[in-house]
Amino acid sequence: MEKPAFLDRDRPDVPDLVVPGGVTPFYLAGRPVRGRLVRLGVLADALLTRHDNPAPVTSLAGKALALVASLASALKFQGSFSLQIKGDGPISMLVADCTDTGALRFYARTDEDALEALLARTPRPMDRDLLGSGYLALTVDQGPDTDRHQGIVDIAGDTLADMATHYFTTSEQHACWLMLSCTMTDAGWRAGGLVLERIAGEGGSHVVDNAEADANWETATILASTLSTAELLDDGLPPAQLLHRLFHEENLHVSQPRALAFGCRCSRARLAEVLQTFPDDDLDHMSEDSGTIVMTCEFCNKDFHFPRKDITADL
Ligand SMILES: [Zn+2]
Repeated sequence: MEKPAFLDRDRPDVPDLVVPGGVTPFYLAGRPVRGRLVRLGVLADALLTRHDNPAPVTSLAGKALALVASLASALKFQGSFSLQIKGDGPISMLVADCTDTGALRFYARTDEDALEALLARTPRPMDRDLLGSGYLALTVDQGPDTDRHQGIVDIAGDTLADMATHYFTTSEQHACWLMLSCTMTDAGWRAGGLVLERIAGEGGSHVVDNAEADANWETATILASTLSTAELLDDGLPPAQLLHRLFHEENLHVSQPRALAFGCRCSRARLAEVLQTFPDDDLDHMSEDSGTIVMTCEFCNKDFHFPRKDITADL
């Protein structure tokens, strides 16, 4: 006998991919600076090519993945960090999230006609052109029994890095510097980022005066600005070596790297539970003549087929 949908806890057939050194945290000892270097490596290509998005959408999605990966790796607890952008541009919705263990996923909703019209006017659009006006939200979710922490700001700035910087300066009152990149390379899509955060004090007993701290922060951001996209996305350049190139005169300390992984958390069982919340009329409508309801996980773009007779409205 075939297993009914609600008992099927199977995960979909998605790549079981882990990039062990995906995030490299570091700090500059004696300076109010800590940061993370993020490299999705082969994971970028695996995540991004599961969706048939136009290249500008894929590129922005890759940057969003690098951003949430860099933010989630700073979490000190179990949970996830998610980015949601809603705007009136060709990309009406972009969602990316990353758990504390580095499980990454995303989806984007695009109006293809609007995108085509934009590309006809502006062949190399900025992230702002793709997203339009709207808002950007960052949510920390630590599980069902805890409060969610969410901050929302208007979309401001030309690039996703500018938008995130705007978020941190207004919502979190926290200086940060960001570089995010995603591009097609000879090895497929690659995405990465470098994030610097200004922290209070420098973690030691040595008290740094404000002018000195300001100067240290400025030096770190100037050095970070010398990083090229080619260096950031070069699989052959080890993260520690890249960081050494940038910050070797700034008391660089490289911490234990963290893994990133293919992170869709959908399952047949979860989608069957969603279906059961619909009334019978809707279920009949969804199954049409075939007798089968197709649900697609937006994150991993996997179709799940449910025989209509197996789904009972749970009212
Ligand atoms: Zn999925």
